[in-house]
Amino acid sequence: MQRTRWMSHVVPAGLLLVVVSGVAQGQKPPVQLETLQRGGRNYAAIEAALSSMASAAVRGDADAFLDHVEFTDPQFEREMRNMAKDLKLHTPTRVEFRLADDGTAFRTIERKWAEVSFTIDYDMPFDQNGRKMDGPGRRVQSTYPECEFRCDSSGKWRFAGEVWKEIAGDGFVVRYVDDKARPAAEIVSRVFPISKAHVDEGFGIAGTPAASKHQIIKLYENMEHLKATVYLSMPDPVLGGWNESGESIKFLSSYAHDERGWTRAFAHEYGHVATWELGERASELPWWVAEGAAELAAEKWDAPGGNDRQVRKLAENGALAAWSDIASYHKARQEVKYLAYVQGHHLMGYVSDKFGREKRNAWIASAASGRSIDEATRAALGLSFDELDRTWRDSLKSEKK
Ligand SMILES: [Zn+2]
Repeated sequence: MQRTRWMSHVVPAGLLLVVVSGVAQGQKPPVQLETLQRGGRNYAAIEAALSSMASAAVRGDADAFLDHVEFTDPQFEREMRNMAKDLKLHTPTRVEFRLADDGTAFRTIERKWAEVSFTIDYDMPFDQNGRKMDGPGRRVQSTYPECEFRCDSSGKWRFAGEVWKEIAGDGFVVRYVDDKARPAAEIVSRVFPISKAHVDEGFGIAGTPAASKHQIIKLYENMEHLKATVYLSMPDPVLGGWNESGESIKFLSSYAHDERGWTRAFAHEYGHVATWELGERASELPWWVAEGAAELAAEKWDAPGGNDRQVRKLAENGALAAWSDIASYHKARQEVKYLAYVQGHHLMGYVSDKFGREKRNAWIASAASGRSIDEATRAALGLSFDELDRTWRDSLKSEKK
């Protein structure tokens, strides 16, 4: 569960209107277009599919929910499976989808599909610290921009995700919905290979199969839309991006504003992707290990010494967290969540300086293979985790190197 750093500004959830873009890329045969309108047969069928998805969600029935989803690519499949899995843990008490008044439907001899926007409106009985609430809970509303629905030969409609535009690169693709995001997508397509090369080298996976997986990057215009594509229970009030093992890397298109900012952002996010290649249970790593490693991967693009100054100040003020308080994204309290990043980053840097890059990578890999952090520390660094923690905390009291 790797979300990006919290942003300092919130992007207002603007009204999204249905935009008919016509047929997407590719060599599709001639199509018949029809306007998809409230009251029409296809409109009613898509509405019924969404209604069935909504009732599956309030039953916490992941399989029934997924029955209405068309898996257009493996990363989208993983994203939707993770969303469905969370419905069992955090079941909403009410879910309503509302289709826009009209859209466009297409038909060839082989198939039918439609493009239409919709809103999702639901009650989530868990607060932003993940605690169960009495009553209906938090009301959440979000607008999905134009999305695709596909109809199979039996007449069943399925949700197939957003209608993306894209810039393809070597080993990756940058997707965006709105033309307003095109300039950001162009910057991302230039800097992603730079971030990736830096991270692959730092984690020692350059040139290996682990570094050759095709990466999908998705840019969103609207924070509420981004949040709604993660989990319906998404607890963070402000979210700038999201990235989880096997999923695409998601960012708000306004997350960074220049090449340096985007290079740093992708060094962090792709840092997670590389970490997941270090062991088959890497997605279960303590949260601060995952965020600390990603922050270390990105520090080249930060002001030198900034993390060290921040953590020494926290130590001085007695404001560091116990590692167990930042070991789980879902359990960490909102007010200590940032410490998974800054404190995790500092310990990663400390281990790198004291033991070297190879031992640091072996340490992360050991934890990523399913060992506890104490076992991994003993195996890779030759001391207990408590001892490591103690020497690290002592190092914060001494004069800055
Ligand atoms: Zn992260």
